[in-house]
Amino acid sequence: MADLRFCAHFPFSDEAKDYVRLSKLSLDDEALRGGEERLRQAMGTEGEIKPGIELESDLENRLLHYAASRMILAAWKNKYAVRRMAVAESKLAHKFLRAETDKRAGYAGKLSASLGIHFLEAPAAGREARHLLPFWQYLLYTPRDVHYKLVNMPLSAGFVSVSADQRLRILEEAVKKRLEEGSLPSLKEPPASISAAIKRLEPLLPRESLAPTQINARDFPPCIRKMLDDLAMSINVPHSGRLSLAIYLIKAGLSDGQIVSVFSHAPDFSKETTQYQVNYIRQKGYSMPSCATMDTYGLCIAACRCFSPVKYKDAVHGRYARASMESSGQAEPSRPQEKEDKKNEEKKLADPPRPPKDGVEKEKQEGDKPPRAPGR
Ligand code: SF4
Repeated sequence: MADLRFCAHFPFSDEAKDYVRLSKLSLDDEALRGGEERLRQAMGTEGEIKPGIELESDLENRLLHYAASRMILAAWKNKYAVRRMAVAESKLAHKFLRAETDKRAGYAGKLSASLGIHFLEAPAAGREARHLLPFWQYLLYTPRDVHYKLVNMPLSAGFVSVSADQRLRILEEAVKKRLEEGSLPSLKEPPASISAAIKRLEPLLPRESLAPTQINARDFPPCIRKMLDDLAMSINVPHSGRLSLAIYLIKAGLSDGQIVSVFSHAPDFSKETTQYQVNYIRQKGYSMPSCATMDTYGLCIAACRCFSPVKYKDAVHGRYARASMESSGQAEPSRPQEKEDKKNEEKKLADPPRPPKDGVEKEKQEGDKPPRAPGR
């Protein structure tokens, strides 16, 4: 017999799909309203689906709300909405997995089996439980974060040893991947009620006029171009990538508003938080991470031999980006003082200081705590 609580918490699992099919549950107007609300929460400022108070009698409805939200996405055909929803659903799943009820019921193991991820119990290291994951699956589902780079993980006989917390984070990533890449229900002609729901949800799409592709990126280094392209397609950029990108764009002369709009396509975008973080990074004057550091973060994708992305190709960092924005009317023309500063910068960069012995620029150690990455 199906476990209804498990199905309601993880409505994308095979068990939940079987439950809906076998119970012959159907989507009525009430379910559609619930699905619309679920999407509204995922696409709202906080980007989170609220778990709310859980009543036994409500579990089936939750399942239906999820199914209805997928129907709306199928009719909408909007990639941003799909990715935003995938992020919110995977975070909600993570929240459930951390809750006491789900821990007692061993739902993490059940969910990994449903996702086809094969964790093995490992001998505990001290008091901490460990789990073993075949390295090829680890590579598939690992979050794009420096802490999860394979070189930093214990690896033995083809298995990576992960902590209990890391296992939940990997499951969150796997859920996101399944929802982003999985197929949506097929809908030939969406009913009027679904089209009306989409109309009501459309104002939640990012409305900023500056799409990253409008910036003339001819002098942006490959790592920066890749992150801009990913954001333009609402593909998640890791924490360290967002931070580096924000620093780069600040140095390219973009205003806070313009940088916020670049991040507005991130699937977990929050305008207020991004504004705050971009402003914080600007105030602190963080230095651009060197290429070696970018490589450590897993963000370097080429061998440009330039020591730092800001020294890629043209010593005058960001000149073309700024110029292209000015010519398209997306940026205020540079003020005389800015032009003067830029000239000085060009002069300085024409005779750049020799890199330290190890060929790596030393990063500025400023700020009393590390900045949060913008975009969420
Ligand atoms: S070498 Fe430097 S500039 Fe080039 S992709 Fe790597 S980090 Fe970016």
